[in-house]
Amino acid sequence: MSHTHAQNPDPRTQAIVRELGILHECAAKDHQVGEPGLYSRMMVIVDGNIPSEGDGENCYLTPVAAPRSGQGWYTLTTADGAARPAEISLDEAKLSQQDSEVTTLLDAYEWITDQGLGVAAQSIQVILISNIGPCTGCKARLQIFHSDLLAAAQQAGSKVPITVESVYDTPEASRDRTRGNKIPTTYGYPAAVSTPYAISGRQGAYWVYRLQ
Ligand SMILES: [Zn+2]
Repeated sequence: MSHTHAQNPDPRTQAIVRELGILHECAAKDHQVGEPGLYSRMMVIVDGNIPSEGDGENCYLTPVAAPRSGQGWYTLTTADGAARPAEISLDEAKLSQQDSEVTTLLDAYEWITDQGLGVAAQSIQVILISNIGPCTGCKARLQIFHSDLLAAAQQAGSKVPITVESVYDTPEASRDRTRGNKIPTTYGYPAAVSTPYAISGRQGAYWVYRLQ
């Protein structure tokens, strides 16, 4: 069999790999002063349109959110925000209330409800991209975000399919850690699927978990 050249992957995969690189660069700067934090952003692909930096008409890329930037609806600690699910302790919610995902989810939700649902004719794919998989609290937040989106779509009379995925590229799919010296949490999804890629001869893999 003759040697074949590896084809560059689809634009979606290329965009995901590009964003993982950007988030790792941010985290690497942190590493000079301590533990690298979890940076995140969301890619909202509408009708197959893949966003680049600054896009906000037909598709959307949230700004990169930094650790300790979280505030608003998805903190799970305020009376006028999303309700904390029973399986998330108040301590866990408090420890993770400023995580970057809290900012990212709200930003994406606002764009989708203000703009995305109006322009989408076929599909909305929402991809949470982060350098480390989401903690237990943020996994609950992502689930709530998914429900919020489905409810908003129904209210807007939109029937386009909406998918929500979490993508990250740590060595393992998930990792148990203790946070704040006493609260156990799991970063990433044990059931995430490894997705290999090759871009211009550079090989790698990232984890994908699709919410149900
Ligand atoms: Zn978190």
